[in-house]
Amino acid sequence: MASLFDFTTDSELLDALQLARRGQAYYAQKVNELTSDEFDEPSRVGGWKRREVIAHVGLNARALSRLTQWAATGIRTPMYDSPGQRNDEINAAAALDPQVLRELSDEAALHLNDQWRQLDDSQWKNEVVTAQGRVVPVSETVWMRTREVWIHSVDLDNGASFDDFPPELVDRLLLDVTSSWRKRRDAEGLGDFTLEPTDRPNPVSTDPDGAAVVVCGSAAELAEWATGRGTTGLRTADGAEVPSAPRWL
Ligand code: ZN
Repeated sequence: MASLFDFTTDSELLDALQLARRGQAYYAQKVNELTSDEFDEPSRVGGWKRREVIAHVGLNARALSRLTQWAATGIRTPMYDSPGQRNDEINAAAALDPQVLRELSDEAALHLNDQWRQLDDSQWKNEVVTAQGRVVPVSETVWMRTREVWIHSVDLDNGASFDDFPPELVDRLLLDVTSSWRKRRDAEGLGDFTLEPTDRPNPVSTDPDGAAVVVCGSAAELAEWATGRGTTGLRTADGAEVPSAPRWL
């Protein structure tokens, strides 16, 4: 039975859930503003029409629901059975009639939210494995979903903007991306970057003591760039062209 409230009473987790739910509402509003014909227009994700983004985001909720189910029951249910399954599912769902795709998108999100509500404080700590093979507590699904819904709203390319993102989301994105770069720096030979938001007191850097490319702009513009979505509004401290950001995930 669907529950109306969260079982958890952990205030940090409840805040995180709220940010995911706000993102879902923002994303759903942008999907609802699209006519069926507009589903066939390009998105901001290279090679994907809007209908592919919408299929992907809906299926992502289903895949995360498999992890919450795993955490709740202890029965291993991975996000995808095989690497090819994810892409096959996206292609199949993207071919659906727009109305069916809208329903898939809404139902998958409702189901995930319901699964989250039913987890108790101890179940939230149960470990699951992400599609990239990371072992994480199932609470990580909240952030995984949060970044999906907010950023793919912008990818729909019908008016959503990083400028609309709550400040705490922008800050978390900057930390998340730079920490991912730092972890992969040596293995992948990534350069160092210092991000200097003009509307925040402190920079975020992959190497605060070393020589780094310094990129300046609003925190929202920096988050847009760092997540691989363009260089709008940015400049470097030395006036050189703003480089493209390394891969995030
Ligand atoms: Zn995605």
